[in-house]
Amino acid sequence: MQAEFRIGAGWDSHAFAPGRRLWLGGLAIEHSQGLAGHSDGDVLLHAVCDALLGAIGEGDIGTHFPASDARWRGAASSVFVRHAAQLVHQAGWEIANLDSTLILEEPRIGPLREALRESVAGLLGIEGGRVSIKAKTPEGLGTGGAAIATATVLLQRGQGG
Ligand code: MG
Repeated sequence: MQAEFRIGAGWDSHAFAPGRRLWLGGLAIEHSQGLAGHSDGDVLLHAVCDALLGAIGEGDIGTHFPASDARWRGAASSVFVRHAAQLVHQAGWEIANLDSTLILEEPRIGPLREALRESVAGLLGIEGGRVSIKAKTPEGLGTGGAAIATATVLLQRGQGG
């Protein structure tokens, strides 16, 4: 079977809000505020989820987990990512790699990078070396009150897969 590939891109943003726990990449992060949202607000996992679903043409996170559904109120976004990864595998694909960028003022991602990478890799069932987490501060964007995440995933199957 000849090697086949699919690529998927995800993007998400959430506003910071006091009184919320900060979740990033499936980890609870020590910080003064968290991200608002119907679920746990994990902006990175939402971008990852959309990248996975996009790569197999299965809509987006809202298609599978609508905010109108009370079941997903306060839900752990790891549930969304595991479900998306399961759909990917059911469709016969393996995840080759994931590259992502976080754009936020705080907290600093550098010290968290390896933990985030291992957490996301664990949720996807792949080794950490296939996951990249990059970070930027939002210079000139005026989005200091929000966290933005992008994610790009490559799927493969067949020879070399
Ligand atoms: Mg979201």
